[in-house]
Amino acid sequence: MTGAGTRFDLLVRGGLVVDGTGRPARPADVGVSGGRLTVLPPGSSSGSSSGPGSGSSPGSAADAAEVLDARGRVVSPGFVDVHTHSDGVALLGDGDGSGNGSGNGSGDGSGRELVRASVLQGVTTEICGNCGSSLFPALPERLAAMRAETRITFGGDVGAYADFAGFAAAHAGVPRANHLASLVGHGTLRAGVLGPVDRPARPDELRAMCALLDASLAQGAAGLSTGLIYTPGSYAGTAEVVALAEVAARHGKPYVTHLRDEMSRVEEALEEAVEISRRSGAALHVSHHKTAGRYAWGRTERTLPRLAELRAGGMDVTCDVYPYTAGSTALAAMLPPWANDGGLRALTARLGDPAQRDRMRRAIAEGVPGWENTVGNGGWDRISVACAPRHPRAEGATIADLAAAAGADPLDVAADLLVAEGGEVTIISHSMIEEDVRRVLAAPYAMIGSDGVPKPGGRPHPRWAGTFPRVLGRYVRELGLLGLEEAVHKMTGMAAARFGLTGRGVIRDGAHADLVVFDPAAVADRATFTEPLLPPAGVDAVVVGGAVVVRDGEETGARPGRVLAL
Ligand SMILES: [Zn+2]
Repeated sequence: MTGAGTRFDLLVRGGLVVDGTGRPARPADVGVSGGRLTVLPPGSSSGSSSGPGSGSSPGSAADAAEVLDARGRVVSPGFVDVHTHSDGVALLGDGDGSGNGSGNGSGDGSGRELVRASVLQGVTTEICGNCGSSLFPALPERLAAMRAETRITFGGDVGAYADFAGFAAAHAGVPRANHLASLVGHGTLRAGVLGPVDRPARPDELRAMCALLDASLAQGAAGLSTGLIYTPGSYAGTAEVVALAEVAARHGKPYVTHLRDEMSRVEEALEEAVEISRRSGAALHVSHHKTAGRYAWGRTERTLPRLAELRAGGMDVTCDVYPYTAGSTALAAMLPPWANDGGLRALTARLGDPAQRDRMRRAIAEGVPGWENTVGNGGWDRISVACAPRHPRAEGATIADLAAAAGADPLDVAADLLVAEGGEVTIISHSMIEEDVRRVLAAPYAMIGSDGVPKPGGRPHPRWAGTFPRVLGRYVRELGLLGLEEAVHKMTGMAAARFGLTGRGVIRDGAHADLVVFDPAAVADRATFTEPLLPPAGVDAVVVGGAVVVRDGEETGARPGRVLAL
């Protein structure tokens, strides 16, 4: 073990170590050398300290080049955000967005401001490519069309890539503070072979999709994701997804799904996911589990016992959750699936046709078999505009309010906004109740994912900047819903195990040196729906690969992060 005089690159001294396994917290020092951890008995290191907070301490030079004073603080593994849509945000550069990126925490929404929000809440690994949407893969002849779509979906020219290796290479050119892993999005994969069309895949097309998926998984993508409410993923039947999940199973990687319905038909949608997992042999991970809309409120009292029963029967099934009662997605996803057939240009053309608008209005009022129909389950008064770059005054207002102010029908207001914004408007959907969120948070197999959608401009959902401190502050300290060790496990060890992040998510000898130092008495989210990028309180330091990327709650400028090939 470590003797006196050992020199560490970094020493985290005097903290209470919550090691990510769920085991009880214990006082310990943590040394870092060569990007790996050594757990030391408390007080094993000599030298003075510079008081609460952190910084280099000359008196400890015999032990470490740099010291973080963690007295009164918790030292945990870096948080793994298992559910992000941060695929392209680092590729946007500083020029995108409406603000000056001055870093004052006021949420100006620039690319820079968006990138830092994740690491400031303690996230050392983001997993993107969720809900069926990733920046790869595609057949070469489809890449130009894909690039036009990702420009709109991700809020800038972030590109489209033939495979995971191309995606990783693009990110390798942009220094980053934390790590990034990516799933293969089924919607992207489908569009990358068939285009954004509403029809079944032919056998040769399905073979091509399987081959592209296989190649990207072999290169290091984390698994397969679907978003079966979103076009074009929603155009696929169960058998297509089974065939693809079989490829994931061969790689020992999970099938990760945004269920086909999270509202009135959530239980049937869950059973489809179970069937896909059973037939394919892939482990099942249910994304951002919720039972949303007035007809499904309280339904977690049925879905969670079902998940527990499956686990008791030996099935490898887990889920993630974000700690808010509002979701966020694209305004276009409020329209029936046929409206999006053919992609954005086709959608815009339909929105310009009054007869098509009437058809959409009827579909929302009456429902369409197999379609989730968020507005039919809730109402336009629960849908507020998050990002509409050319209509900043609409941001924050509900579609119902905008319609009342204009004396117009809500569908027409939504349609006009979509046309004027080129098809892409982000919305916040106030669709859940607190009891359901708490039940999912408390489920022993539920990990934490922000579902953050970091796009420049507007008022994004505050979850991108607040998720992890909100769980620790509100649900651990204030409400006592979760124990501290349990909550940290959900953010670290459990997540790393699910997604094959070997040697991460735990504090033990030899593990990767990704750490967070936070104040359990002060940690709290500050991001709100009006100030969505405000950094949290109480997250003092973040270490990635042994380098301190956040000190005293501020970025240091270190950029040790990379794309992880799993
Ligand atoms: Zn989703």
